[in-house]
Amino acid sequence: MRLAQSYSRLGTETAFEVLARARALEASGRKIIHLEIGEPDFDTPANIRDAAKNALDAGFTHYGPSAGLPETRAAVAAYVSKTRGVAYKPEEIIIVPGGKPVIFFTILALIEPGDEVIYPNPGFPIYESMINYAGGKPVPLPIREERNFDFDPAEFEKLLTPKTKLVILNSPANPTGGVMSPDTMEHVVKALVKFPDAMLLSDEIYSRIVYGGKHLSPVSAPGMKERTMLLDGFSKTWAMTGWRLGYGAGPKWLIDAIAKLATNDHSCVSSFSQIAAIEALNGPQDAVMAMVTEFKKRRDVIVKGLNALPGITCKTPSAAFYVFPNIKGTGLKSKALADALLSEAGVACLPGTSFGAMGEGYLRFSYANSVENIADALAAMRLALPKLSAVAAK
Ligand code: PLP
Repeated sequence: MRLAQSYSRLGTETAFEVLARARALEASGRKIIHLEIGEPDFDTPANIRDAAKNALDAGFTHYGPSAGLPETRAAVAAYVSKTRGVAYKPEEIIIVPGGKPVIFFTILALIEPGDEVIYPNPGFPIYESMINYAGGKPVPLPIREERNFDFDPAEFEKLLTPKTKLVILNSPANPTGGVMSPDTMEHVVKALVKFPDAMLLSDEIYSRIVYGGKHLSPVSAPGMKERTMLLDGFSKTWAMTGWRLGYGAGPKWLIDAIAKLATNDHSCVSSFSQIAAIEALNGPQDAVMAMVTEFKKRRDVIVKGLNALPGITCKTPSAAFYVFPNIKGTGLKSKALADALLSEAGVACLPGTSFGAMGEGYLRFSYANSVENIADALAAMRLALPKLSAVAAK
């Protein structure tokens, strides 16, 4: 018995593996501070939970259409139209179980062996994994610390070829918290005009977790809506990671293709969850604003604390809930340092290399944890680091 050959090309998301190791240490009695997993530590706001409970009682317990309930597609279309300033119709929306399936299905629907796909590196690991799985050629787009974790548009332009079938962009970004500047976006849009066969997958799952400034989407630029699959969802903005609820907004031909994949995969997204999604979009937004305010406070604590540690420097990200400190001054490789911080300091974080080869020299911390826990983690690292660096220097 053996697995299909294609399976060997599939990657994974290390955050879940580190979480499992951290939990095993906890089970043996160790105290671990979790700064590895990208999930808000808040509860889903009460109005959204109530909407789901009411929907259960109202009978939303049956199968629905594969592309989503008509009322949920309409609510998402109105929301995306308002937030991106471009008109979307309900038939240009698909509701899926999380933001991740938009990546999975878009790549399965578009990529044939040999097709080139440009994707951010370091970036969300599922992009590279899925490009490889579909037999595409991954073309990494370097994300540059010296540009505040934006990319260089001239470098981007050089990667485009007639074989480029898809470009994946992620702003605000995991793992760096970086955002694409208006200037970079303008250059990207201009460069894409010369490659009319290339589609864009714009992963905007952190669109609402922005500290000052406004979220910018490439679909707002003329001509881009028709060639873009926009990914967004409920996991991060409304602290709904476990609900598995996200959506794609894109051209009808691609939405229809993905709906057929959905029929073959999960049939439809849970109906009562989709009713709660409408409440998330249209109900009061004060809980979202409170979460973003709290994240900003935590960001400032972790950035200041990391910059005070020997061998570590950390830029201040302007969005999402991640920092991506440069650890080259410690003399340790990313994986060695992340492993040592877990075993020696009880701090769970991810090596930058979990996000691609270009993440060497960095760690990723998620600051979706309390200020107290972040302060404890920083104190534990301050104690452990000199010892770890001394071992590295030998
Ligand atoms: N895209 C990016 C950049 C992410 O960081 C994540 C989750 O960490 C996702 C997509 C997936 O989101 P979801 O949990 O809604 O599937």
